[in-house]
Amino acid sequence: MDRYQMFIGGTFCDAESGEFRPTINPATEEPIAEVPVATRGDARRAIEAARRAFDSGVWSGLSPKERAAVLYRVIENLKEREADLARLEAMDAGATIRKTSMMDIPVGIEHFRLLVELGERLPTYEPLPWVDFPYVSWNFVNREPIGVCAGIIPWNFPFMMTVWKVAPALIMGNTVVLKPASDTPLTALEFAKCAADAGVPDGVLNVVTGSGSVVGAELCTSPLVDKVALTGSTETGRTVMKLAADTVKKVTLELGGKSPTLVLEDADLALAVDGALFGTFFHAGQVCESGTRCFVPASIYDEFMARMLERVKKIKVGDPLDFETTMGPVVSRSQFQRVMGYVEAGRQEGARLLCGGRRPAGFERGFFVEPTLFDGVRNDMRIAREEIFGPVLSVIRYEDVDEAIAMANDSIYGLGGAVFSRDIPRAIDLAKRLRTGTVWINDYHLINALAPFGGYKQSGVGRELGPHGLLEYTQVKHIHVDLTLDRAKRFWYDYIFND
Ligand code: NAP
Ligand code: MG
Repeated sequence: MDRYQMFIGGTFCDAESGEFRPTINPATEEPIAEVPVATRGDARRAIEAARRAFDSGVWSGLSPKERAAVLYRVIENLKEREADLARLEAMDAGATIRKTSMMDIPVGIEHFRLLVELGERLPTYEPLPWVDFPYVSWNFVNREPIGVCAGIIPWNFPFMMTVWKVAPALIMGNTVVLKPASDTPLTALEFAKCAADAGVPDGVLNVVTGSGSVVGAELCTSPLVDKVALTGSTETGRTVMKLAADTVKKVTLELGGKSPTLVLEDADLALAVDGALFGTFFHAGQVCESGTRCFVPASIYDEFMARMLERVKKIKVGDPLDFETTMGPVVSRSQFQRVMGYVEAGRQEGARLLCGGRRPAGFERGFFVEPTLFDGVRNDMRIAREEIFGPVLSVIRYEDVDEAIAMANDSIYGLGGAVFSRDIPRAIDLAKRLRTGTVWINDYHLINALAPFGGYKQSGVGRELGPHGLLEYTQVKHIHVDLTLDRAKRFWYDYIFND
């Protein structure tokens, strides 16, 4: 079995305890590699390395162009290892090779490139909106790196999330300590190798494997860390925010969702049915912006559901390493049990299970769940309110669109959503009424690295990607330059002098 090391201060190393933990392939339940179990002391070493690297200016002192030149070399190294990374991601996370080789790795690398290019171009000098007393002073805003940034990432898109945390932080001049999810640490460690080979200076990027309650907690509480960015559950978001409060860290949180797919009566049915299924069953529903509540108008309800039941059969559950497979297992035994718990809750609350809700026939091992459709769902049922993070779609029937919008917005979450309609102006109007950070019209899941991504309400704080996301990795400094050098003109000094 492969044994991985962590990456601290430019060196690959074991944990100080010498302990290792296996990471499991969720399709076979077999261990695939071992990674170090970091202690708080290991986390501290990584934080100190990042702090020293930041304070030395070895990275923050470079121009964006110079930093970009190093990061483009990281991208080249990642590209060379693309096929291996796709396979490793599939094995560690249970994602299909179809998806990791067409999406996670190539699109992740593309996001990296776009974010670096964008960061290279973002002006660090910002003039004021207009010039106030130009003969007295020159005032401007300087964008500066924040310092040491911690990235804590989940298990659903391990490589993509690594990119989303590392690329913006590094191009804007910060240093990073990254903590991958305990269930899926491998591609983040491979990423570290690509960064080391590209000559990223020691301590600028550190990757520490260990649990959220140990390594994560140290990152959130250390006075040497300036910012923490988490992608994960809303529950963990609350904890991170509380832990970060004592040292008043900047936080960016990308959290859970229960996003609505709103189908209108004039929708293209073939598109809307497949779009609604793609919105939920992509990566077995383990996506934060998944459209897990589908609102369907009564006027087309029966036809829509009949088509849905036909199309859901075309989702092929199976071995993630088989290119024909379109849906793999969920990530872990605990996630499997959680999903099954929600299926039971749906039944008990009176929703109608149309298909799925169990382990597919012929799969004794692996955390596989059949694509699951519930209808007769009310928006106040647990399966419509809580994030399941599995292949479970709740269909809710509506009579008029205002009622559907009200139900769609009746959620603690506000991450994503979709409107399916042929009437684009109307769809845009409805998109504006959804209280969520992203709305797709006649599509789902297409995340654009140049556009902000993040949540309203309890789906998060701040934004990732695009200029908005990059600016979250900067401090804003106002610089005031006196242009007179003349004491006599300083009448405001006379607020304290009387001579
Ligand atoms: P999670 O607990 O939120 O994990 C996300 C990350 O936070 C992991 O790296 C985790 O480390 C870390 N973490 C956990 N507790 C922490 C703490 N007290 N302080 C600092 N960091 C901490 O998510 P999960 O347990 O993997 O999944 C649970 C549920 O979260 C899922 O069922 C799903 O509903 C939701 N989820 C949402 C997203 C999303 O993108 N919205 C992603 C994943 C999961 P460990 O891995 O070591 O625990
Ligand atoms: Mg794993």
